[in-house]
Amino acid sequence: MFILKGIDQLEKAIAKAKKIRPRVEFDRFGRYRVSGSKGYYTVICRKDERGYKTVACTCKGAERGLACYHAAAALSLHIGLARQKPSA
Ligand SMILES: [Zn+2]
Repeated sequence: MFILKGIDQLEKAIAKAKKIRPRVEFDRFGRYRVSGSKGYYTVICRKDERGYKTVACTCKGAERGLACYHAAAALSLHIGLARQKPSA
């Protein structure tokens, strides 16, 4: 899990996601499944109780606090959806 502070933090992960082009499946708002080298990973984007945007992924990299390309791929969908939500 990592805290999303800015898009520059995701630069490398976004570049990797663009190259690998993982499949992103919508589960529900804030919850996505992203294809990876060993099957699907679940990415959860949410705001914690302090108002920080947190991104969690079930892969090994994210477990160590790294911004992985699964998270970057899921976030691009999540941000698009959040913009469409009138309450967000
Ligand atoms: Zn990941």
